[in-house]
Amino acid sequence: MAFTPSAEMPKTNPIEHQTFFLGVSEQEASYLKDVNTLNSVESARATTKIGESLRLATKIFESSNEAVVITTSHHKFIDVNPAFSQITGYDKAEMLHQPTFILNSHHHDQRFYLSLHRKLLKFGEWRGEVWIKCKNNNVLPLQLSVYSVRDDNNVITHFIGIFSDMSAHKSTENELSKLAHYDPLTGLSNRAQFVEHLKFTLDMAKRNHQQSALMLLDLDRFKLVNDTLGHQLGDELLIQVARRLKQCVRELDTVSRLGGDEFTVILGTIQSSENAASVATKILVALNAPFVLSEREVFVSVSIGITVFPVDGDSVNLLIKNADTAMYHAKESGRNNYQYFSDTMNNKMIDELEMETNLRQAFKNGEFSLNYQPQFALKTKKLIGAEVLVRWNHPTLGWISPAVFIPYAEKSNLIIALGEWVLRTACTQAVSWQQSGLKLQPMSVNLSGMQLKQPDLLYKVAQILDETQFPAHLLELELTEGVLMANVEETITTLNKIKDMGIRLSIDDFGTGYSSLSYLKRFPIDTLKIDQSFIREITTSSDDSAIASTIIAMAHNLRLNVIAEGVETIEQANILLDKECDDVQGYFFSRPLCESDFCQLLTKLQADIT
Ligand code: C2E
Ligand code: MG
Ligand code: MG
Repeated sequence: MAFTPSAEMPKTNPIEHQTFFLGVSEQEASYLKDVNTLNSVESARATTKIGESLRLATKIFESSNEAVVITTSHHKFIDVNPAFSQITGYDKAEMLHQPTFILNSHHHDQRFYLSLHRKLLKFGEWRGEVWIKCKNNNVLPLQLSVYSVRDDNNVITHFIGIFSDMSAHKSTENELSKLAHYDPLTGLSNRAQFVEHLKFTLDMAKRNHQQSALMLLDLDRFKLVNDTLGHQLGDELLIQVARRLKQCVRELDTVSRLGGDEFTVILGTIQSSENAASVATKILVALNAPFVLSEREVFVSVSIGITVFPVDGDSVNLLIKNADTAMYHAKESGRNNYQYFSDTMNNKMIDELEMETNLRQAFKNGEFSLNYQPQFALKTKKLIGAEVLVRWNHPTLGWISPAVFIPYAEKSNLIIALGEWVLRTACTQAVSWQQSGLKLQPMSVNLSGMQLKQPDLLYKVAQILDETQFPAHLLELELTEGVLMANVEETITTLNKIKDMGIRLSIDDFGTGYSSLSYLKRFPIDTLKIDQSFIREITTSSDDSAIASTIIAMAHNLRLNVIAEGVETIEQANILLDKECDDVQGYFFSRPLCESDFCQLLTKLQADIT
């Protein structure tokens, strides 16, 4: 009950309370006066009638399901019925003569009460929704009607309030609204609500001459998770993805689930288009971290399409369509990345993001570190070495995957300095473990195409080996198929020189490029690394299983060692064992480890042997 608080607090008048009852007491008083002066049968009948009406009114008042209150014109309670006590928790005795603002919930501002009061004075009644605070401090929504009661001189003597508790109705209303607007699995906005939000965002952006961005996200290979782990864990994954997405955006931005593994993010206002790229990078990084589902770690990635209002379109439908096109472009570009709808924007972004400056800064600030992913012989399960993987811990974006930043490092030539740093740091580290009493392990280091083209590559590598005293025969350099095939004759010459230094060579991500068998024979290679895309579905796809068998057989025919990348399950490991794959690397055996964890692993393995 939310009557306007009054500053005046008139003194209690018990007679007033007795007299004014349900707004008929004044009449009753005048009738009683009549009874005293008229000494006739008529007046006796009138008295009986009044008595009856009073009894009826009292009955209605007492038994009504709706709360009924009577106040003075100064908004002090003079009577309340049992329904009032039931709803508010206050009994009649404690309410008498209390000001009505005792029920004030602070849900409404001063303007609300002023308007209520004005209407009450002008029209004699007011109806609407009001929130009150109960005795137990619960806040309730009420459907309230207030009436003013005037005397013969048209002066307000009382107010009568009648209200009912709307909370049950409200919660059904909320439930219904939730069902209509929210995705029941993740609690995010659903498609209908998303369209509404986008419309609203565009209207606001138009009015304020601002830019907004829409991102369409599709999880990569979600079907595989559903098929292998079941729908229940698939649902759990979606819930966790939703949670991470929400953590990547501001309060004002909207994350929605359109259905399946499709999500959207609306960035209400952006200063420039690169803001969207920063959020997209943040999302890529957030989703790259493992998800724990029923005590097992699961890895997913996401492809993101970005459209910017107004440059890519100014209507809801057009922006959605363009975001979809951009998302497919991201899928085609190898998944786990984002793409803008417009190519000019994509190109511009590369400049605008100032990734080059960022990377150089990162290099100077020591934001890079190394991880070591153990590699094992499949038959004996013995450690055979580790692949060195670079990591970037950005001060605001957190860990950024090398899959995201290496292409920029290549574009900006920074890869040369970074590659040198990786090699030097890995060799130094390996030798320092050896100095602390551990067995020196072979190290595989990724070499970029750009590094291979450097005329002083051999000199630099020799210098680092000399400086760190890391033995050449324990170093393996990994090159992708694409790099090898780019400039075959020159590459063969360089690779032969590397081999002459005693360094081993491997082809990384084998099977994804277009190696010609005749060239393959001519490359002085020691190892083929089967790309993880064939391993991922080796247990379910007969094509992938056949490709893996062929690569293994071919490698063995060429007297090459073969290692499978990205082995995540025991089933994959067993199939590879059947196919006589030599070595393995993957999350099933070990994730890439930071320096101290890898050192711990070496220590443990050494202790197990001795
Ligand atoms: P890559 O050389 O093929 O490295 C293997 C990638 O697979 C690594 O990703 C590794 O963390 C990931 N991986 C290992 N086991 C599993 C598994 O069981 N499941 C899955 N899903 N992934 C697994 P990362 O560290 O993100 O590196 C991505 C790529 O970035 C590397 O692919 C490599 O091409 C490049 N890269 C990383 N470090 C360097 C570097 O120091 N120099 C150069 N030039 N490139 C690097
Ligand atoms: Mg590699
Ligand atoms: Mg690889």
